Amino acid sequence: FNIPTPVNEPVLSYAPGSRERSLLKEAITAAYSSRIDIPMYIGGKEIRTDKKVEIRPPHNLQHVVATYSQGDKSHVQLAIDAALSAKESWEALAWEQRAAIFLKAADLIAGPYRYKINAATMIGQSKNAYQAEIDSACELIDFLRFNVKYMAEIYAQQPPVSPSGSWNRLEQRPLEGFVFALTPFNFTAISGNLPASAALMGNVVVWKPSNAQIYAARVIMEVFMEAGLPAGVINLVYVSGPDAGEVIFNHPDFSGIHFTGSTSVFQDIWRTIGNNIHKYKSYPRIVGETGGKDYILVHQSADLKVANTAIIRGAFEYQGQKCSAASRVYIAKSIWPELKEMMQTELSTFKIGPVEDFSNFINAVIDEKSFEKLTKAIDAAKADSNVEVIAGGNYDKSKGYFIEPTVVVTKDPNYVTMCEELFGPFLTIYIYDDNEFDTILSTIDKTSIYALTGAVIANDRYIIEKATYALRNSAGNFYINDKCTGAVVGQQPFGGARGSGTNDKAGSMINLLRWVSPRTIKETL
Ligand code: GLU
Repeated sequence: FNIPTPVNEPVLSYAPGSRERSLLKEAITAAYSSRIDIPMYIGGKEIRTDKKVEIRPPHNLQHVVATYSQGDKSHVQLAIDAALSAKESWEALAWEQRAAIFLKAADLIAGPYRYKINAATMIGQSKNAYQAEIDSACELIDFLRFNVKYMAEIYAQQPPVSPSGSWNRLEQRPLEGFVFALTPFNFTAISGNLPASAALMGNVVVWKPSNAQIYAARVIMEVFMEAGLPAGVINLVYVSGPDAGEVIFNHPDFSGIHFTGSTSVFQDIWRTIGNNIHKYKSYPRIVGETGGKDYILVHQSADLKVANTAIIRGAFEYQGQKCSAASRVYIAKSIWPELKEMMQTELSTFKIGPVEDFSNFINAVIDEKSFEKLTKAIDAAKADSNVEVIAGGNYDKSKGYFIEPTVVVTKDPNYVTMCEELFGPFLTIYIYDDNEFDTILSTIDKTSIYALTGAVIANDRYIIEKATYALRNSAGNFYINDKCTGAVVGQQPFGGARGSGTNDKAGSMINLLRWVSPRTIKETL
C-alpha cells in the first residue's frame, strides 16, 4: 500500500529563547484572554445548553478560563442518532479517504494547532510545557499517523491460499452499530486516540471525555472537523457517567467501548454490559486501559545515576498522574544511603507552581478529590511510626492543588501505598537486604494487583534475565535500565493485564483489530 511512512514527531525543546517557547507563551496568553463557551459537537453542530459549568485551571483556581455546556440523556440519544445516520456513508468511504482525514489532522496538530492544543493541555490539565509537548503534540500526532500504517497492514492480510478455481478473501468490516469512547484527563493523546482509532477503522463514535479534559478535548474536535471529518462520525458530549451509561448501555446498537480510566469504573461498565448482554445485536468489544501500581526494582549492581533518574522522572513527571508512573520502588540496602542522598538532592531543586512559569517541574494535581486522597495518604504516612517521610510531605490548596513530590520509606512490603493506586506525586520505597533478591521478586509479583508497567535497574546480566522472567506477568510494559513511563507509539505498544486492563496495546495493530469484524468470502470462479 502506498501510505506515508510514519516517523515519530520530533519533540520540541521549549528552551529559553526558542521560537516555540514564545509561540507557546503567546497561545497561553490568548487562551487566558478569551473566556470561551465550549459547546458539545453532535452531528457536526455546536450544541449549547443553559447549564454552564466553569473550567478553572487546577493550578490557578481563582481564574475561570472557559465554560462548557452540560448535557443530559437527551444529548446522548442525539449523539447516537447522529452517529448511526452518519454510519452508512462513512463506512462506504474508501479507506484511503478516511486515512487522509486523520493524516491531515496529524499535520494540523504538528503545524498550526500545536501551540493551541499544548496551551489547552497545560492550562486545563496542569501539565508543564515539556509534558504537554510529548502528549498533546507528539503522541497524538504519532497515534494518528501510525494508526494509518497499522490499518493498511490489517487490510493487507488475506488468507494465504486460494486453490485454482477459487478466490478466498477477508473483508475487514467496521463493527455494526456505534462505539463509545470514554476518555481520561491525564493524556490529551489518549483522549484523541480512543475515538479516532475506532473512527479510522470505519466506525461511528460517541465520545465522552473526562470533565477535567474538556478544555483540550474540544481543540481535538476542532482539528478533526477542520481536517474534514464528516458530521456525525465522532460526536463529543459532556454528560454525567450515569446519564451516558443509561442510554448507551441499553442501546441495541452499542457495539464497543474504548476506555481509559479507573479500574472501578471499568468494572462497573463491564458488569452493566454483562447484565444487558441480551439487548445487543452483537457481543460488544470491551477495550480498556485502567489503573497501575507500577514498580521499579533496583539491584545492588545498578548504576545509581540511572536508578535516580528512572525513579524521579518515573514517579514525578506530570505529578505522578500517569497510569504508568512509578509509585513503589524496591532498593537494595547496600546502595540505599548513596541513592537516598542523590534523590533528596535532586528533589530539593524542583520548583512547584503554575504551568505558566516554565521552570516549575511540578504543577497541580487534577482536582480536589485527588488532592484530598493524596494528602490523606501523606498524613497517614507521617503518623505511622513504621514509615519515614524522606522528601516532601507538604501541600497547599490556597491557589491550586499543589502537593510536594513526596517520598516515604516503609518497613512493610505490603504497606497500603505499596499495593493501592494513589495517582499522584507520592512514592513509597521498600529497602530489601541484598541477599533477599529472589524473595523480593516474588513479593512484587504477589502484590501486583495491577500489571501495567515495571522496571529493573541492574548491570548484572543474570539478574536482568532473572527479573525479566520472574516478573513476566506483573507488567505489560517492562523496562530494563529505564524509567517505566513514556512509551512511544511505534516503539513500545502500551497496555497491561490483571487490574490494568484488557492489554489491547494502544498504538498498535492489536488495538485496531478490535474495531473491525472480519468477513470471510469464498468465491468459486
Ligand atoms: N502511555 C503512557 C506512558 O507510557 C501512560 C498512559 C496512561 O497514563 O494511561 O507513560
